[in-house]
Amino acid sequence: GRHATAQAAGPQPVPGVRHVIAIGSGKGGVGKSTVTANLAVALARAGRRVGLLDADIYGPSQPLMMGEDRRPTAPDGKTMIPLRAHGVSLMSLGLLVPPGKAVSWRGPMLMGALQQMLTQVAWGELDVLLVDLPPGTGDVQMTLCQRTKVTGTIVVSTPQDVALIDARKAVDMFNTLHTPVLGLIENMSHFTCPHCGGTSHIFGHGGVAHEAATLGLPLLAQLPIDLETRLAGDSGRPVALGDGEMAQAFAQLAAGLVR
Ligand code: ADP
Repeated sequence: GRHATAQAAGPQPVPGVRHVIAIGSGKGGVGKSTVTANLAVALARAGRRVGLLDADIYGPSQPLMMGEDRRPTAPDGKTMIPLRAHGVSLMSLGLLVPPGKAVSWRGPMLMGALQQMLTQVAWGELDVLLVDLPPGTGDVQMTLCQRTKVTGTIVVSTPQDVALIDARKAVDMFNTLHTPVLGLIENMSHFTCPHCGGTSHIFGHGGVAHEAATLGLPLLAQLPIDLETRLAGDSGRPVALGDGEMAQAFAQLAAGLVR
């Protein structure tokens, strides 16, 4: 019947949205949210209409990183209006939970909330909707890729072996879900000492580049450990708003992503 046809239709587009791009990682703490916030800002600066959906239920950090944490309103009682931060439309599960409270939903509730954020938010016309995924290979990733038409995913990792092993699993999951992986990003790839100018490879050297080559995937960026990036993230004004080297790196990443 009708119902079965709808079920069989597979991943659905988000109305008005040209590209959904999901940013994932194997492990937490590798900089996935930092990269997502900065990429969103860089895309907006390049004139793209950008949305950012923070689906990292375990640690929704976009309200902090984007400097906008008001509770979204739903004037008609149904459709939520996304917040605006630095030219980006923003929604986060973190905005729906009182500050300091943990999201302790089980699978079905979580999936409902994710679906709600995709379909009951007034995203409007967007060139790109970036989705900041939780780390790992769980329910959120699977539900998103199975229900929503995702143009592609990006996997962020540090060069450290423990991070890389899990990044590989994330890539494997997206392959299994038939969701294209656009490439890998190596974050925290090196540190240049502001005092002596020397470079240290704190988490190892070239690990993500090697992994990308092994998997036959593009290495989209190699980003250093950078004090300004951390400070900017904490202050709610992503480093990509500036004009330093990191801002240029994110502008370059944005330019290569959607033409
Ligand atoms: P994830 O989303 O993978 O859990 P976050 O983006 O929250 O990771 O980053 C974890 C911490 O590391 C944050 O405090 C963030 O400011 C910091 N961080 C991320 N990337 C960098 C970087 N390239 N240089 C310096 N600090 C970074």
